[in-house]
Amino acid sequence: MKKDDTNKEYKDYSLWHNIKLSFKYAKNRKKEFILYFIFNILLALIGAVAPLLSAKQLLKITDGLLNELLIISLVILIVELSRNLCHFFARKYSQKFAAEVLKMIQIDVANEVLKIETSDLDKKSSGVFIDRLVKDTGRIADIFLDLNMSITDFITNLGILFAVFVISKVLFMYYIIAITIIFILEKIRIQEYIKADKIYRKHAEKTTGLVGELVRGVRDVKVLNATEPFMNKISNDVTALNDERYRMGKTRRTYSLVIGSIRDILDFTLIAIAYLLITKGYLTISNFVIVYMYRGKIFNLLTLTSQVLEWIKDFNLSAGRVFEIIDSNVFKKEKFGTKHIDDINGDFEFKDVHFGYKDNHEVLKGISFKIKHNQTVSFVGKSGAGKSTIFSLLAKLYEPDSGTISINDIDINELDCDSVRGNISIITQNPYIFNLTIKENFTIIKNNITDDEIVEACKSAKLHDFIMSLPNGYDTLVGEGGLTLSGGQRQRLAIARAFAQKTKIILFDEATSALDNETQKGIQDAINEMKNEYTILIIAHRLSTVINSDKIMMIDDGQVVATGTHEELLQNNKEYKKLYNMELKKRDTQ
Ligand code: ADP
Repeated sequence: MKKDDTNKEYKDYSLWHNIKLSFKYAKNRKKEFILYFIFNILLALIGAVAPLLSAKQLLKITDGLLNELLIISLVILIVELSRNLCHFFARKYSQKFAAEVLKMIQIDVANEVLKIETSDLDKKSSGVFIDRLVKDTGRIADIFLDLNMSITDFITNLGILFAVFVISKVLFMYYIIAITIIFILEKIRIQEYIKADKIYRKHAEKTTGLVGELVRGVRDVKVLNATEPFMNKISNDVTALNDERYRMGKTRRTYSLVIGSIRDILDFTLIAIAYLLITKGYLTISNFVIVYMYRGKIFNLLTLTSQVLEWIKDFNLSAGRVFEIIDSNVFKKEKFGTKHIDDINGDFEFKDVHFGYKDNHEVLKGISFKIKHNQTVSFVGKSGAGKSTIFSLLAKLYEPDSGTISINDIDINELDCDSVRGNISIITQNPYIFNLTIKENFTIIKNNITDDEIVEACKSAKLHDFIMSLPNGYDTLVGEGGLTLSGGQRQRLAIARAFAQKTKIILFDEATSALDNETQKGIQDAINEMKNEYTILIIAHRLSTVINSDKIMMIDDGQVVATGTHEELLQNNKEYKKLYNMELKKRDTQ
């Protein structure tokens, strides 16, 4: 697959495909589905019995048989009450069924989002996933419930149609023709409507993503005094979204006018046909009164037919958008091997690795190096040289275009997820802190972590004293993205999380850049204590933090241009010497 395929069109799955996938999630709710089905059949039977009984009731009135009328009315009451009960249970079981399906789909979709390749995630706005996970899955459940209610009503009304068949074949034929006409018109309307809805939902997910950015970036927007341009962007997106909503309304409006008028004409035609039948002696007035009494319900059959059609299309659209996330042909999924290693020693190697985020721009250009376990190795070089990319590739966030990366002499493509990610932690300059308590920021990454382990990790990261100074200590909420913490505290919390995971390979990606000198020295001491036990990789701006490394690699334009200890590089590499002298000068002038 090409890397730059941001605007690829989405798949249209068949209805059958979507139904099959939906039912896969409801396997353990078979009982509710069967019960729902049984109650629906009962409803259909009752639906046919009620009008026939009503016809009898009317005959008794016209014949003056008041005693029998009372008995028949009592029977009708019992039938109607049992219809209500059947409705109640049919709804109950369909609601149980829908809740289960929704739960399972949402959990699975969230799980699948976590498996999507980072390169595919990079290309999409967060709105794509938020809307599908929340709105579209919700629509599937709502449609299922609406659909079930409509099907129940539909079946009941089919029973009524059957009663019409018993009463008058001509009127029955009339209804069949009327239903067919409305059905065709509704089908055209729905096609137009769904086309507009598809575009609307694309706009909606873009807007959700932008609103998310508004909330997350509100401080920067304020400080940058960018309220006006940002509002312009929001206003454009919201306008496009609502224009589309209006277009959908227009389709609905226009077709409602046409279809409504045709229905009124059909209603008049019913009376005209009945008039002819009565005058010619083919229909009694009392039977016509019955058909006329129930005509609302039969015409309701038309409304229900169009609603059902619309919901089926809507279901197909929502389910298609949701199941697209699960489909690895649309959103590429990360692939891992099957080999599992519990105890890696921390050796790893890059062999002639080429990689670019985009098709025409190679970031790593055939990079090769070997790191021995328990070494501390630093990467230095200009910004944009490809240092962080090396880390991302080692954690398998991206796949190399060619070449191999191996851990413990095993190609990482052969290793399972646990063997790769369970053995590596990356501490970045801008770590993500969850909007949970400090303690939960540990339990979310390691279920069975003990309080003592959390405290120990925080002590190593020089964060414990600060946490203890907070009124709620380890139970303090840190705000979205760790908003209530300073940059340095966020980094220390990320470092503590990595310490707590005790992975064999730890990558520090300019992780101490936001720390003051004293804290940095404290963390440096903690890293030094870990030396010889862990494989530690450091990307650092300040050369002072890399002096003690066993090996320093200079990266330039996606390649290793020099390797050695600090002393060796100072002696042999002009570029390194220049960098070091510049830093010394900077320190002297501070
Ligand atoms: P360094 O860590 O040496 O500063 P990086 O590895 O972060 O460099 O980046 C190398 C190049 O890759 C840069 O040109 C950067 O713009 C580009 N790059 C980094 N991350 C991405 C990404 N997710 N998508 C596209 N390009 C990226």
